[in-house]
Amino acid sequence: MAAASISERLRSIRESLPTGVTLVAVSKFHPAEAIKEAYEAGQRDFGESRAQELSAKVQALPDDIRWHFIGHLQTNKVRHIVAHADMIQSVDSLRLLRVINQEAAKIGKTIDILLQVHVAAEETKTGFLPSELNDAANEALTMKSIRLRGIMGMATNTDCEERIRTDFRSIRRCFDSIASLVHLPEFDILSMGMSDDRPIAIAEGSTMVRIGTDIFGMREY
Ligand SMILES: *Cc1c(COP(=O)(O)O)cnc(C)c1O
Repeated sequence: MAAASISERLRSIRESLPTGVTLVAVSKFHPAEAIKEAYEAGQRDFGESRAQELSAKVQALPDDIRWHFIGHLQTNKVRHIVAHADMIQSVDSLRLLRVINQEAAKIGKTIDILLQVHVAAEETKTGFLPSELNDAANEALTMKSIRLRGIMGMATNTDCEERIRTDFRSIRRCFDSIASLVHLPEFDILSMGMSDDRPIAIAEGSTMVRIGTDIFGMREY
């Protein structure tokens, strides 16, 4: 793995994914050239976590890339993200949801969003509690400039497979419960699984994995 190129790593990850699971290549902290290499190997979905970095990369890279915003988002940055991202996966409060809707309406865009759910042990991770999700989904459905596509979540950062599996099951249950509430064919994205835990996430029903390190190598912060 370590010696392989970006395109070789991408190919082997793609081959390991079941059909119906979308790969988002998490390119945060990696330069545009690295994204270019992945793009030339056929990758089109990329994930970024900082507003300025996203804007700069959007300007430098091809138009047919689908940009996923996956980082914690402050309301004063929303305008830039809404302008540049195709999907915001990290919607973690009602206030943020409302600001996204307002900013999208201003530029006549309908933006795809995922509600982020918090099930992990770490308090540093953000997201709605499972008990808050139904209300958030109901409110999202009333918003004209938002298209609610699904749920995003992260498992606890631990070596304990049981805990990771339990977390992914909880996220999956949230997805199923909202899917039966909203009854929309476009509500079809269960975004869970990163470099270290994707096999468990896929076994537990993930339809979208977000992989950074296993494609691009370690990030230098
Ligand atoms: C950074 C990040 C990832 C990618 O993590 P890797 O371990 O590098 O695969 C996935 N999801 C979110 C929300 C992230 O912030």
